[in-house]
Amino acid sequence: MLAKIIDGKSLAASVRATQKSAIDALAARGVRPGLAAILVGNDPASHVYVRNKARACEETGVRSELHAFPDDIAETALLGRLARLNADPLVHGIVVQLPLPRHLDSFRVLAAVSPMKDVDGFHAVNLGALLQGRPGFVPGTPAGVMRLLEHAGVPLAGKNATIVGRSTIVGKPLALLLLQKDATVTICHSKTPDLATIANQADILIAAVGRAKLITAGMVKPGACVIDVGINRLADGRLAGDVDFESVRAVAGSITPVPGGVGPMTVAMLIVNTVRAAELSIGKPVE
Ligand code: NDP
Repeated sequence: MLAKIIDGKSLAASVRATQKSAIDALAARGVRPGLAAILVGNDPASHVYVRNKARACEETGVRSELHAFPDDIAETALLGRLARLNADPLVHGIVVQLPLPRHLDSFRVLAAVSPMKDVDGFHAVNLGALLQGRPGFVPGTPAGVMRLLEHAGVPLAGKNATIVGRSTIVGKPLALLLLQKDATVTICHSKTPDLATIANQADILIAAVGRAKLITAGMVKPGACVIDVGINRLADGRLAGDVDFESVRAVAGSITPVPGGVGPMTVAMLIVNTVRAAELSIGKPVE
């Protein structure tokens, strides 16, 4: 039997719709959530991601503004703009589209975003809060994956969850979120020998690598839930995940497609975080 498809596109639409009442409540208090996006250079993928975020904002009732800079912008100028955005009462969330050009220090730039406006959850204060299990902004992709798992009714407590990829924006925060739900978590990376054997034991297998078709049917435990975070551009221009969708579909119990899986959820969770940042700005307590 083919795996059940976990539809991230429709879940993302319903998550965004649930923000409507919060946005209306904010409007009644004269506040419209505002998101500022920093975009440096001409990376085509970054332009697409920022455009998608702006469109989602528009559809949901969040005000968005774009701060685009040339490739060779000086770090001091970028930090100056972030300081202004931190102080701007109309801006509740700030995202810095990654990757940044090499001459810019990503850590320094991300650290310059106010933790209260860090709706991407990349600031050390928010990542630290996640580590400690305290309230804070959780990065959109891991938060979106957790919502997908919850929506699909995938049990986590006591289950083996394996994440392939250990980045700070996906793999590591996702491991913490899965631990909070009592999964037994394994993180694999480029130095992991025999990925197939480890992946085969996973009840939940999450691929966040950036290599098309890395995960094949033989690596998947029958009935497992497979979440594909990867976004890869194939030679023919199509998008593909890290999972060989067609073959894995015949083995897995449930699976997310690419596109239409994790990607839309990442954007939806950014909207959720921006609305929350706006609520925080008028003193609503953190949850
Ligand atoms: P990174 O490049 O930061 O991390 C990739 C990870 O994969 C690293 O930990 C790396 O290991 C590991 N890796 C590389 N090759 C292998 C291999 N052969 N076997 C096992 N592990 C390997 O990527 P990101 O986390 O930023 O993104 C991962 C993918 O997810 C990309 O395709 C990206 O486009 C996509 N993405 C999608 C999002 C969405 O909304 N759907 C959002 C964010 C990212 P090591 O640490 O040893 O180098």
